[in-house]
Amino acid sequence: MAIEKIDTLVVGAGQAGIAMSEHLTGHGVPHLVLEKNRIAEAWRTGRWDSLVANGPAWHDRFPNLEFTGTDPEAFAGKERVAEYFAEYAERIKAPVRTGVEVTSAARIEGQGGFRVETSDGVIEAQRIVAATGAFQQPVIPPVVPEGADVTQLHSFHYRNPDQLPEGAVLVVGAGSSGAQIADELNRAGRKVYLSVGPHDRPPRIYRGRDFVWWLGVLGLWDQAAMEPGKEHVTISVSGAYGGRTMDFRRLAGEGVTLLGLTESYEAGVLNFAGDLQDNIASGDADYLKLLDLADAYVARTGIDLPEEPDARRAFPDPECLTDPVRALDLAKEGISTILWATGFRQDFSWMQVDAFDAQGRPQHQRGVSAEPGIYFLGLPWQTRRGSTFIWGVWHDAKHVADQIAIQRHYEGYRRPGGPRADAV
Ligand SMILES: Cc1cc2nc3c(=O)[nH]c(=O)nc-3n(C[C@H](O)[C@H](O)[C@H](O)COP(=O)(O)OP(=O)(O)OC[C@H]3O[C@@H](n4cnc5c(N)ncnc54)[C@H](O)[C@@H]3O)c2cc1C
Repeated sequence: MAIEKIDTLVVGAGQAGIAMSEHLTGHGVPHLVLEKNRIAEAWRTGRWDSLVANGPAWHDRFPNLEFTGTDPEAFAGKERVAEYFAEYAERIKAPVRTGVEVTSAARIEGQGGFRVETSDGVIEAQRIVAATGAFQQPVIPPVVPEGADVTQLHSFHYRNPDQLPEGAVLVVGAGSSGAQIADELNRAGRKVYLSVGPHDRPPRIYRGRDFVWWLGVLGLWDQAAMEPGKEHVTISVSGAYGGRTMDFRRLAGEGVTLLGLTESYEAGVLNFAGDLQDNIASGDADYLKLLDLADAYVARTGIDLPEEPDARRAFPDPECLTDPVRALDLAKEGISTILWATGFRQDFSWMQVDAFDAQGRPQHQRGVSAEPGIYFLGLPWQTRRGSTFIWGVWHDAKHVADQIAIQRHYEGYRRPGGPRADAV
């Protein structure tokens, strides 16, 4: 059987794969997008039921298409976001083949290009763009043994409060997922404990503008690299319930018990680090820093935005903050579930190419890998803070497509006239 050949193979049809296709089409690059599930599958089945986008619809989108039927200031629900990408793919006539998994990709020695094995046969591609996402494999730190008498699940598998066995819930991790899920469970009448690590927590709205706008005008989405020491700092924001600032003191006032980092487990007892006050304080500092930068911007530009002194008033410190709990006996507290909102790892196990460092991390410059012909898209901080976000990946895709077009230009060079036309 003849082997299918394609110039550029894009693996994954999430937002990254769709953006990639748009820009490759713009450059006239023949390509194919393979997706093992459906377009934007992560938004359909990889998120809890009530999830809405973290940014308003005017912002969390590609530049060339608005969200129709959604108030631009509102936060689109996860299904609407998935539909948006499906619509987008149709609109740009993206050559997406769904239900096809790429199982391996290896360089074809002496010929150039890659042999790609899929669940639907072999393809030869000159180039591969891995657009398989930064949030692929849920990570649960090995703290509580699997056999312990408590249900354990990752936020990736959480759908809604009714799914959990009756009883109190310990949510570990207070990034956007953990904080939002803790809030939802608390509203559903569950007793909730929330283990809070280092985090940033921007104001949802300040002086009448959403934080996504502030990060934009302040140039912070374009920050090229994570500040040193912030590697384990998560961001805690929410578009739920119309969007409100993630404020851990307020959550505690509403009934959630805050705890420090989850450290160890022994005989039914979980122990927590003594870092809760520090973590809350550094989250506060991050919050106030953005207010300061915003105020300075207003002063500098003279833009007419109303002052908002109340934004600097903190809720009172709850007892769980002034006198933190350091150990919890799960049975005594009636904790039936530990919900780990502890992040994800990437999975490039299908790529047998020389594009990774010793820890298996992609080695690349703005998505162009160390192995010629291999490209990445959608990596955290690929080019900037915004790289994993909907609008950010579109701009990164443009850069990757430009680089592919430049390579193709060199590869297509033929010296005019003369016998040495094709000599290298
Ligand atoms: C809970 C949560 C909420 C988020 N909310 C927002 C938000 O509100 N706004 C925002 O801008 N960003 C948000 N993000 C970040 C980011 O936008 C999403 O994670 C987004 O899904 C990433 O898109 P992607 O295309 O890079 O990866 P994915 O959406 O994960 O797409 C990758 C695709 O590759 C496919 N795939 C993987 N391996 C293979 C293979 N071997 N062969 C074929 N196909 C394969 C997968 O099926 C998948 O469809 C959120 C992330 C999470 C985890």
